[in-house]
Amino acid sequence: MSPRRSRRRDPFDRGGRAGTARPVGGTVTGIENVEEGSDGEWVVRTVTGGGTDKVYRCPGCQQEIQPGTPHLVTWPNWADGEGERRHWHGGCWRKRVDRGPGRTRY
Ligand SMILES: [Zn+2]
Repeated sequence: MSPRRSRRRDPFDRGGRAGTARPVGGTVTGIENVEEGSDGEWVVRTVTGGGTDKVYRCPGCQQEIQPGTPHLVTWPNWADGEGERRHWHGGCWRKRVDRGPGRTRY
């Protein structure tokens, strides 16, 4: 159990006027890592899930990720990869990465 932050101070204030469907960039705050998978490099961003009303569908388990649920946003780490963004449960992403005995075929 984690104590809930009652403060809702967003350091990256969006200026209130949301609603434009911008592809990416600055609207989701979080920590970014680059992970290497069998299918290339992936940017993995941890998000709190706060500040949005959107429900996402996790491609790992096909379940919905409810607003306010901390999860991961991933996309391929190559040009235009951000268009391929996917929202994953943390556990589902790990399972994806761990899948297989680590065979790599080059
Ligand atoms: Zn999932």
